[in-house]
Amino acid sequence: LHVTDPLAAGATIELSAGQAHYLGSVMRRSAGDGVRLFNGRDGEWDGRITSLGRGKAGVAVEFLVRPQADDADTWLMFAVLKRDQTDLVVQKATELGVSALLPVFTERTNAARVNEDRLQAIAIEAAEQSERLTVPALHPARPLADALAAWPAARPLFVAMERTDVPPLALSTPHSGLLVGPEGGFGPRDHAVLKQFDFVRPVSLGPRILRAETAAIAGIVLLQASRYG
Ligand code: SAM
Repeated sequence: LHVTDPLAAGATIELSAGQAHYLGSVMRRSAGDGVRLFNGRDGEWDGRITSLGRGKAGVAVEFLVRPQADDADTWLMFAVLKRDQTDLVVQKATELGVSALLPVFTERTNAARVNEDRLQAIAIEAAEQSERLTVPALHPARPLADALAAWPAARPLFVAMERTDVPPLALSTPHSGLLVGPEGGFGPRDHAVLKQFDFVRPVSLGPRILRAETAAIAGIVLLQASRYG
């Protein structure tokens, strides 16, 4: 389970109401049972449930089972898609080890906002399911130009572009990022904004036109091809 408190032997942790419900009603755990905890900093810890009631649970932290490992350090900037597809991108990117998620609004993005709580919950669940010890940093959704202005200039940003004569995305480029456009592709205003930044590297993912969510998954796999963080 993902928690925010520091984890160390002897610490006691109060779980959230949702986690208490999950442990009691879904997992059928009770006081005295074991549970694994991580917070993205201190590794994975074995804990023992000390109390479990309606909307409340306490866990005593016992011992370290897995030290914190480095993540692959791939960032994903992605145009917000329809709800289910956005959920899928967040879930799969988290499973694949992406360390930062940056949703953006592009010229042809249909959605006006995203439900950040929902995406955060999906990322936490996917991190737990895939046994990562971190949850990717979910940035607030913002216009593409603003996200590019805040991007660290030393980090290459590979921009997936279909139907153009650009080089294929090279294998294994750590400490980089991928940008994938929306269902309708990037528009002329997006291209004009992208041209302003030196860290932008247009790349192809092959001759076929992939759905945006497929492009995100394929691109992340390529960037991390020989380094699974
Ligand atoms: N509507 C566009 C068209 O018909 O040309 C297709 C957009 S595609 C469904 C959505 C996004 O996926 C694109 O903006 C791009 O980032 C990425 N993408 C899809 N296929 C790609 C490819 N072969 N190479 C690079 N990027 C691709």
